Amino acid sequence: MHVYSDPALERHVNELSGVENPERFPAAVAGAEEAERGGAPVRWLPCRQAGEEALLAVHTPRYLDRLRDLSDAGGGYLDPDTALGPGSFEGAALASGAACGAVESALGGEPSFAAVRPPGHHAGADYAMGFCLLNHAAVAAAHARSLGVERVAVLDWDVHHGNGTQDAFYADETVLYLSTHRSPFYPGTGRVGETGEGAGRGFTANVPLPAGSGEDVFAAVFAGVLVPVLKEFGPGLVIVSAGYDADAADPLGGMRLEAGSFGRFAALISAAAGETGAPPPAFVLEGGYDLDALTRGVAATVRGAHEDAPGWEYTGGVRPVDEARAALAPFWKSLR
Ligand SMILES: [Zn+2]
Repeated sequence: MHVYSDPALERHVNELSGVENPERFPAAVAGAEEAERGGAPVRWLPCRQAGEEALLAVHTPRYLDRLRDLSDAGGGYLDPDTALGPGSFEGAALASGAACGAVESALGGEPSFAAVRPPGHHAGADYAMGFCLLNHAAVAAAHARSLGVERVAVLDWDVHHGNGTQDAFYADETVLYLSTHRSPFYPGTGRVGETGEGAGRGFTANVPLPAGSGEDVFAAVFAGVLVPVLKEFGPGLVIVSAGYDADAADPLGGMRLEAGSFGRFAALISAAAGETGAPPPAFVLEGGYDLDALTRGVAATVRGAHEDAPGWEYTGGVRPVDEARAALAPFWKSLR
């Protein structure tokens, strides 16, 4: 596992959020260190800032200028949850650059993890939202496309729907966005009927779940929707928006996963990628606001990418899964 990290990722301070704090960075790094001590093959790599071209593939020039100007001026407020301070633009661009590095490692045959903050999946072309300034997973997906990867899948297991990532590729048939998330919940998007538009119809797959869902429900989501659609799509690369706020200990999430759940997700996605001839996945950190749970979840993910997949099968009877299958069946024969 190639792990991308940089101490500068600790510098961004969002004074509107107590939970998306600088301590999340060392907590995530501690997870990869824990996996390494346990014998997982970890190679530490530095980050470089994402280039203007990579950022412009997702964000508008005007929005990037606004972020840069506010950051240079010492900070400002972007939405009710999202502020930036001096150096925040550089930090966010470093996080996007780490995600691009993770893509390059994955394409070279190594699973990878970008241990970054702030998270990115709520940020859109011209908006910051929900602690997010730049959309690292989306920038990484666009970077993979620019390197010649024809089809990219972004699988988002953060407890929140990644509205920014969905928006970025909603009409794009070359980037499949798959998300499972709590609903109704922040940010309010991600219903089963949101399946894409224009050429992108069918290339957005949402599986909203009720509060309190545990690994049994998530296993049904993976086996019943995410993995079959992923395999049928046949991506040249899988990027995972890896949030840890569906952990039972998370102060925001309200779900019931345990650290080991994330390891099993990582193993399953790695196996599915391998079965379709794709390289190993690139994981990009999103949310996760209990520091200990974040450490445990990252450790499990780093280990899980090198472990055998669980033998999950979908046998029916889980309502959110059946609803998502029905909404997506017109586009994916594996769900019929
Ligand atoms: Zn989240």
